[in-house]
Amino acid sequence: MCGIFGIEGHEDAANLSYLGLHALQHRGQESSGIVSWDGSRLHLERGMGHVADIFKESVLKRLPGSRAIGHTRYSTSGTSIVANAQPIVVKTSMGPLGIIHNGNLVNDREIRQQLEKEGSIFQTTSDTEVILHLMARNPREDIVESLLGALERVRGAYSLLLVTESCLVAARDPHGFRPLILGEIHGRPCFSSESCAFDLLGAKILRELKPGEVVVARGKNIESYRLPRVPEPSRCAFELVYFARPDSEVFGDSVSEARLAMGARLAREGPADADIVVPVPDSGLFAALGYSRESGLPLEFGLIRNHYVGRTFIEPKQSIRHFGVKIKLNPVRGLIAGKKVVLVDDSIVRGTTSKKIVRMVREAGAAEVHLRISSPPTAFPCHYGIDTPSRDQLIAADHDVPKICQHVGADSLAYLSLEGLLSCAHGAPDSYCTACWTGGYRVPMGENQSQTELFPIRTEEASEA
Ligand code: AMP
Repeated sequence: MCGIFGIEGHEDAANLSYLGLHALQHRGQESSGIVSWDGSRLHLERGMGHVADIFKESVLKRLPGSRAIGHTRYSTSGTSIVANAQPIVVKTSMGPLGIIHNGNLVNDREIRQQLEKEGSIFQTTSDTEVILHLMARNPREDIVESLLGALERVRGAYSLLLVTESCLVAARDPHGFRPLILGEIHGRPCFSSESCAFDLLGAKILRELKPGEVVVARGKNIESYRLPRVPEPSRCAFELVYFARPDSEVFGDSVSEARLAMGARLAREGPADADIVVPVPDSGLFAALGYSRESGLPLEFGLIRNHYVGRTFIEPKQSIRHFGVKIKLNPVRGLIAGKKVVLVDDSIVRGTTSKKIVRMVREAGAAEVHLRISSPPTAFPCHYGIDTPSRDQLIAADHDVPKICQHVGADSLAYLSLEGLLSCAHGAPDSYCTACWTGGYRVPMGENQSQTELFPIRTEEASEA
């Protein structure tokens, strides 16, 4: 769960990266950083918090040069400390290197342990650093060859951007788990996790990087390389359900249109005898609109979100998360009182948010609350970069739908079927990763790499909760 942005050969590289990151803020709010290359050295600025809080004018002035990459981070591997904030910058015999990463490697532990035995000293606990070590130990005249060699060793999910003294490199893992697109601004190549960043900058979308593609940008020029590809890609379907911004295009799909279709399909699969449809903002907005259009029930904005609070879930501390539901949402009593309400959200993870929202809507006077979820039950953790907690914290891991309905206190509960969900995306059903719903992990975890190790903070918090 991170956002990445990069631009090559543009005199305003750092400023444009800052704006790009601002548009990608929803992908991670813990820390952010930009590294720029000014022709003689790398300049790095990073810190904890939101993009706009870190990058004041004075900070951006310290990022000269025409090549830059920037990152917004939500940790799914490695702890939430500034040492793990990205970009990570190192000096190698091939010159200085800066890297940013969206995704999660699944065999970094075993590589790290092996390298440590051989004398490597790691500066962070982030999986991304492994790629840098592999590159530094395998220097090549062409740094891209060194990267390709490193990428052959790592497994899992990665969309990467690297800054070197000669080029900007973008790479997407052979499964294409996480999105990464190539664009152009004033004739210069730029890269982003999502197209919403290009819209803000007035950049043109050229294309999505192919799974297993490595693109090298030097000034205006672009070269493309290929890692060995897997027969079917494994694009994260949860990007379409929840994670990406609705005004983005991801994996060639308009996210908003996919969500409208999910809502419409949900209305067919899970109809309700009700008066109004109320979205859980913002995650349920488009699915609720789709549900409303399909069912003919009016859409009412019965819950108002305070936008100055981050996503409840995205805060890594359980205490904030619990408090967050109340400080984030408030019901509009006049719209809800006396009504049979269809409440639409994108997913139920632990079940804590939904339970509080259902209670909130009832306390606002709803006659009935029918909860509709625009994805299947989340029963398995994600190993590839979405922050889903371990299985023992996922309510759908050991509760069937009637039990979950009882737990959240709704009058009825229906989820969108997997088949229904996949019919709303334009790609072949097999080309999406659906592991969080099915447990079908296409890239197995490496040795010594348990789920608990992947999410150390949240596991500790689970025992506190
Ligand atoms: P929960 O209380 O754990 O069931 O949280 C469900 C809420 O969290 C829903 O409103 C989702 O939109 C949201 N959500 C689902 N997955 C994630 C995630 N990986 N990160 C942040 N929020 C999420």
